[in-house]
Amino acid sequence: MRKMLTFHVSRITPIAASPNVGFEMLLQTNATLFTEQEKFMRQVDTLITGGTVVTMNARRDVFSPGAVAIQGHQIVAVGPEDRVRQMVTSDHLVDVTGKLVVPGFINAHTHVPMTLLRGLADDLRLDVWLLGYMMPVEREFVGPDFVDVGTRLGCAEMLLSGVTTFNDMYYYEEDVAQATAEVGMRAVLGQTVLKFPSPDAGSYEEGLARCRRFIQQWQDHPLITPAIAPHAPYTTTAEILQDVLKLALELDAPIHIHLSETALEVVEAKRDFGAPPIEYLDRLGLTEARLIAAHCVHIEPHEIKLLARTSAGVAHNPSSNLKLASGFAPVVEMREAGIPVGIGTDGPASNNDLDMFEEARLTSFLPKAVRSDPTALPAADVFAMLTIEGAKALHLDHVIGSLEAGKYADIVVVDQNAPHAIPRFHLSANNIYSHLIYAAHASDVRHVWVHGRQLVQDRELLTIDLPQVQARARDIAERINVFMSQREGSLLIKTIAIGGFEQSETFEVQVKVRVEDLPSVEKRLQALGLEVIKHSVRQQFDTYFLFNGGDNRYLRYREDNELVGSEPGLNPPGLTVHPTYSITLMEGIVEREYQDSIILTRSRYTAKATYSLRFYREYFQPEQEVEVVKWRTRYRVHYEDAELAINFDHVTRPQGLGDFVEIKARTWSASDAEHKADLISKLLRELGLDPSQSVRAEYVHLAQRAVV
Ligand SMILES: [Zn+2]
Repeated sequence: MRKMLTFHVSRITPIAASPNVGFEMLLQTNATLFTEQEKFMRQVDTLITGGTVVTMNARRDVFSPGAVAIQGHQIVAVGPEDRVRQMVTSDHLVDVTGKLVVPGFINAHTHVPMTLLRGLADDLRLDVWLLGYMMPVEREFVGPDFVDVGTRLGCAEMLLSGVTTFNDMYYYEEDVAQATAEVGMRAVLGQTVLKFPSPDAGSYEEGLARCRRFIQQWQDHPLITPAIAPHAPYTTTAEILQDVLKLALELDAPIHIHLSETALEVVEAKRDFGAPPIEYLDRLGLTEARLIAAHCVHIEPHEIKLLARTSAGVAHNPSSNLKLASGFAPVVEMREAGIPVGIGTDGPASNNDLDMFEEARLTSFLPKAVRSDPTALPAADVFAMLTIEGAKALHLDHVIGSLEAGKYADIVVVDQNAPHAIPRFHLSANNIYSHLIYAAHASDVRHVWVHGRQLVQDRELLTIDLPQVQARARDIAERINVFMSQREGSLLIKTIAIGGFEQSETFEVQVKVRVEDLPSVEKRLQALGLEVIKHSVRQQFDTYFLFNGGDNRYLRYREDNELVGSEPGLNPPGLTVHPTYSITLMEGIVEREYQDSIILTRSRYTAKATYSLRFYREYFQPEQEVEVVKWRTRYRVHYEDAELAINFDHVTRPQGLGDFVEIKARTWSASDAEHKADLISKLLRELGLDPSQSVRAEYVHLAQRAVV
């Protein structure tokens, strides 16, 4: 049990924010700390002296010169230096004269192992970035080793920028925990739960089972708070979220989730769940748990009120929101409503660093610009968000976030010798916060303690073998480099990487003939009286993506509008049905050539196009794009012993390309192909077509020539 005694002394220093400058000292009956008899001139493990101590306690006391005494894992005294030195002494004095002593910063939202994916793919839209790059690479590389190296690298970067606690969401979180604990940092670590298979779980049930094991294994660790991280409402289901809530309440674990990050997410939540994301989560009861909501960029006014009635904390991620163009979170409104808002970097792949000084500055600047109000979110408020309010957002403000006797010793010393630190004024307490938020850099961080243990001394990392971590990180990056350059160099691999593609090993015998009078050829076909298996009229909008390079492969994105209610030859055709979209990797390979320019072509990969044309354009980044629009009347007929497809194509874009008849037959053997080539040759003549008018090129190539 702890007993707190606070001594108040009269005004000591003009720098203090409050006239009631305090001196705090913890007297503990616990044998390892003070007893009542021993309270004067007690030896402590470490005594930090000479600096300006910015406490971030409720009175926002600043002591200059101040002192902080550390015993074990805790701060046992904070106050004006002379007062503290009357009470305690130490063999380990750390003189930080001329420097600032501040509470450790709290990175309220990140995905720390993604340090290893930093800079892999940037300036992309969220879907292309996530589905086209992050997820394929994560599927291939993320495992215990990746996570271990990424965490240590991230911890190194964060410690050197003054972060002592971070709130993470990733995979293999037990390995993140192991690395973090070994480094000695404090963290809330959320094991991800998704509705689809992830790098560490084949299903959501498996993901939840992993969460349970992880939480049970780590929940008594002094540095680690294990959490459950359902990624977002749109990547989970109501059932998953209810199971998550049950587990969170049973094990008393926080829930860490992305909420209302983009405008699209909110539109889709209203469509799919009948409510915006935060209201939806509240309906499912998740606000009963210790909730940590990342982003809340598009939070609605009634949701701000709703969150304010709960204990939920919000993690604001200004760099990520700006870089991914997600929008501007209403931080001022959320804080006015009483919601604790911490500041996060988000993952280093969408930032791309873990520099909390930069995040803090943006946090202050954004609402000023958005609201045209330079008084919005002053530096002192932002410094609170970086420390005590961030701690509250993570539900840890009873143990960290300020320099107060009884709290854990998470302490940062900031240098003030750099050119950008000069001069300094002491007109009001705000001068010091202005300096910290608007001028100080991560490189000013000099010493860092977490849980009473010094982890950074004179900018040297004491618990991380940085050269070794860097070597391991470079090694993984090199493997990712090889994987990506193979992928980027091969349209085939890049196509398959986004999933959903099936290889259809079809060989087709085919011919294409330019005709002057398409309707008359069609009438001739009808006059042959062949059995028609299927007939359709469609308008096809094809967008071809072309690439330089030798393998002749290209892509075709097709919007295919089949028309219903049409009869053969009827013009104009009837009503459209819903269009279908496909994406096909064309190989452009001619296997063999027969008489009359009839050719045998080979397999291609095709898939239902589940993303937009814009997505594919940004993902594949073609060197050239060609559009072909045509009306196609398609017959599938029996001709002698074979089934043939006959297309009557009227190309409308590019204009003047002309009309064509195509005859195609699927085949499976060399002799069958030869037989079908003979049949096609015969049908050509029966339709009165001139084989000398046959063209070997695909529409895309004809269009290319027409355009050039
Ligand atoms: Zn995130």
